[in-house]
Amino acid sequence: MSASLVVRPLDGARYVVTSGDHTYTVDASNNPPACSCEAYRYFPKARPCKHGHAVISYRAEPVAGLLDVLTDDQVLDLVDPSYGDAYPPVGCVTIDPDDRAVAIVALEQWGEYRRRKQKPPYLLWRAACSAMAGLECERSDPRGAAAAFAVARGMVTQLAQQPRGA
Ligand SMILES: [Zn+2]
Repeated sequence: MSASLVVRPLDGARYVVTSGDHTYTVDASNNPPACSCEAYRYFPKARPCKHGHAVISYRAEPVAGLLDVLTDDQVLDLVDPSYGDAYPPVGCVTIDPDDRAVAIVALEQWGEYRRRKQKPPYLLWRAACSAMAGLECERSDPRGAAAAFAVARGMVTQLAQQPRGA
């Protein structure tokens, strides 16, 4: 079996990926790209499927011609040499529990300002936004959530260093 992956742009965000006799539609406006294939349906949203990978590579550098002449396995080696065996399972992306705790406290403090109808400090507002973003994507994008919580914690740290009333 040596079907090649061919990527063709459909419109701004969507691509048609042909793999042998199969054709998949990949929506690159999703992160990772949403694909119509089985692999994406069963392991959704945690990482791109091979078609998603192909689209990401294509967007980074339109090398349709290159993908065209490679087999599936060669393409996989190209986009991710560890695909399918050493690929870290989704659960191993760790969210720093301290970052998360600080982010949630910031969110609660921000809520407290809102209840008192006071204007929260700018950095607290930013921290709360990041905390919210992190909580929203915790399951679908643990990596993104970990980053968002870290940003929230950074804001809280900056806030703590500010002189009172600034
Ligand atoms: Zn796919």
